Order: sequence, then C-alpha cells, then structure tokens
Amino acid sequence: MTPSTVLTVLTDELLEGLRARAASYDEANAFPHQDLQDLTVAGYLGALAPTAEGGLGWDLPAVVAAQRVLAQHAPATALAVNMHLIWNGVAHLLRQQGDHSLDFVLRESAAGEIFAFGISEAGNDAVLFDSDTVAEPLADGSYRFTGTKIFTTLSPVWSRLGIFGKTPDGGQLVFGFLDRSAAGWEADGSSWDMLGMRATHSHTTRLSGAVVPAERIVRQIPAGPNADPLTFGIFASFLTLVAAVYTGVGERALELAAQNLGRRRSKVSGETLSQDPVLRYKAAEASLRQLTMDTQLRSVAADLEAGAELGAEWFPRLVANKTMAIRTAKAQADFALEASGGASYHRSNELSRLYRDVMAGVFHPSDDESAHQTLANALLGPVRE
Ligand SMILES: Cc1cc2nc3c(=O)[nH]c(=O)nc-3n(C[C@H](O)[C@H](O)[C@H](O)COP(=O)(O)OP(=O)(O)OC[C@H]3O[C@@H](n4cnc5c(N)ncnc54)[C@H](O)[C@@H]3O)c2cc1C
Repeated sequence: MTPSTVLTVLTDELLEGLRARAASYDEANAFPHQDLQDLTVAGYLGALAPTAEGGLGWDLPAVVAAQRVLAQHAPATALAVNMHLIWNGVAHLLRQQGDHSLDFVLRESAAGEIFAFGISEAGNDAVLFDSDTVAEPLADGSYRFTGTKIFTTLSPVWSRLGIFGKTPDGGQLVFGFLDRSAAGWEADGSSWDMLGMRATHSHTTRLSGAVVPAERIVRQIPAGPNADPLTFGIFASFLTLVAAVYTGVGERALELAAQNLGRRRSKVSGETLSQDPVLRYKAAEASLRQLTMDTQLRSVAADLEAGAELGAEWFPRLVANKTMAIRTAKAQADFALEASGGASYHRSNELSRLYRDVMAGVFHPSDDESAHQTLANALLGPVRE
C-alpha cells in the first residue's frame, strides 16, 4: 500500500496528467517537460532532502513507493526522474552513516536542480570498478574529464551530471559532479529512437576536457573492485530504485489485465473471461509474482533505510531484487497481452507501450549475466584460477 504522505504530493490530478501525456511523449519521441515541471512544482525533486533544507524529508521506502506509483502512470517519466533520485538516494544513505560529502545533492535538489547519472560507458561491464573515461588531475585539485558516456537520461534538462573517470596512470577512479554551464561537453541525441522508455531522452554525452572543480570532486577510489561507501551507495540506490520503477510497470500491466478479463466476454460460455478457470489460474500466478515482488522490494528498501548489517549478503540481495523486478515486469506484460486479446497489440494501446518499456530493464546494471556471477560467487565461491 502506498503511504498517504506520498499521495499528498503525487496527487490524483498530477498522476492523471502524467498518464494522459505518456502516449504522446512516446509517439512523438519527445522529452516530458510538462511532467518534470509538475513534479518540480510538487517538490518531488527534493523528496529525500530534509524538511529543514526545503525538502519533503521522505525516507527511501517512501521514495520507492512513490516511484512505483509514478511508473504505473508514466514509466518513462518515472525512469527519468529515477536517475535524479538515485543520486539523492546515495546522498541520503551516506548521510545516515555520518558522511556529508554529498549533502549538497540533497540541498540543491530541494532548490530545483536536476541531477543526472553519467556513469554508463559502452561495453564497460566492470560498471563502477573501471572506466574508459580519463580523469586528468589539474594543479588546483580540479579534474578534466574526457570520454563518452552512453544513455544519459534527462539529457535535455539536467543541471548537474554525476560522472566518473580514471586517472591517466590507471590508479584511481574519480567521481565528481559537472555543472551544465561548464565547457567541454556535448549531448548527442541524433540516434535517440529507441524501442521503449523513449521519453527518457537518454542521449550520448561526449566529455572533451570538461572540468569539474575541486569542491565538486566527491571521491577518489583505487581502481578495481572496492567496498567504498560511495560505491555501495550507488549500487544500493540504483538497484533498488530501478527495481521500484519496473515493479510499478508490472503492477500497471496486471491492473490492465484484470480490467480486460472483467470486460471481455466468451461467445461460447456467455461469461466474462474473468470466469474462465484457465485464465483465473494464470491471473492468480501473476498475482503471486506481484505480491512476492512487493514483499521483496519493500523489505530491501526498509533494510537499507535501517542500515541493516548484512555484510557480504548485501550484493546478492540487491541484484536478486533488481533481477526479479525486471523478470516480474516482463512476465506481467506478457500475461497482460495474452489476457487482453489482439486489441492490446495495437501500437497505440497502453499495454503495447508497457511491453516495449519493460525491455529496457534488461540493459540496466546489474544485467542478468552479472547478477548470476554475483549470486554464484556468493553461493559457491569464486571460480578457481
Ligand atoms: C532507457 C535507458 C536509460 C538509461 N539511463 C542511464 C542513465 O541515466 N545513466 C547511465 O549511466 N546509464 C543509463 N543507462 C545505461 C544502461 O543502464 C546500461 O549501462 C547500458 O545500456 C549498457 O550498455 P552496453 O554495455 O550493453 O552497451 P553497448 O551495446 O555497447 O552500447 C549501448 C549504446 O551506446 C552506443 N555506443 C556504443 N559505442 C559508442 C561510442 N563509441 N560512442 C557513442 N555511442 C556509442 C550504442 O549505439 C548504443 O546506443 C540506461 C539504459 C537504458 C536502456
């Protein structure tokens, strides 16, 4: 159940507006400027910022619940704002441990700044443990970044871009926040014509000597696998909030499936399809998947908020949650099309859009291969050299 505090900000009117526009943003391959504007006015960008700093003062479980609701109404808008909330989630988790190095993210988010997530690089399956972007140290403590980031969601509107790169000697990974007004970067949306999640406008970002000043360099971590709290915070916030968005998409697919089963009528029996025993069984299976996902997602979010000491169990738990969220959403979209009949195969039908949108989940880290490595290593130990 969604906490009532969430629904006082994400009001019915706001949510219905998002749902009403979602199809046209998708069709026109347009960025959802109006949605972002409405969410900004509602104060949602500062959801995790303390109330004393102008935010809503929510915790992570509340934001997870809110992102599910947003995704039920406008999946691409939810995924877009998710990237901003992921950095806020990192700042929130660090702050809870007494690390205030990313407090400015919360403060500035409450003031309307939009943070994007410039992490992914083509073919970088080391994800956070290595980078093809060069981070060159300058005498004043700033760094000059050169490299190509792919799928930078929120490209048309971000005002701060969280990026990372590696020092020329290969020793350190450097994390910092680039200001939109800085020179030395460009966004290339010329090939943005995707299967789903089209309104996210996750363009390619080319960094060509973009300078992040010393005060916006937030971490230097030795390259390679590491347990730095920032690395953990990014994995934890990313995997959990991505799981929230796709859980919401699955919930909407199931809702539409149930509506359609209650509406469609069998010529043979004269009954609605909701009375068909086979379809009832399949619907119950879908409900089983959704309720299991709901329990898992809420428990991971609550454990993170509580700072549960799960040690080495954290990574398998986080990737299991994300992996099952994507699998569940895909299975729900699959079932919903089956339950809804050929009408749902029309390109303009909401279910057909949800079916395309869920496929993006496959590409977000940790992808299925990486998740299986994590899970197998946790269970069986690493592969022998
Ligand atoms: C809808 C969506 C939103 C996402 N949002 C974000 C985000 O906000 N932040 C983030 O860090 N990651 C984001 N990702 C990235 C994602 O989570 C994965 O990290 C990424 O898809 C993995 O890519 P790959 O290694 O499979 O890439 P590849 O298949 O190797 O490449 C993926 C894309 O990069 C392009 N590409 C490849 N090489 C180059 C090059 N040299 N120059 C320019 N472009 C090139 C390809 O054309 C293709 O579009 C998003 C992904 C999706 C699908």
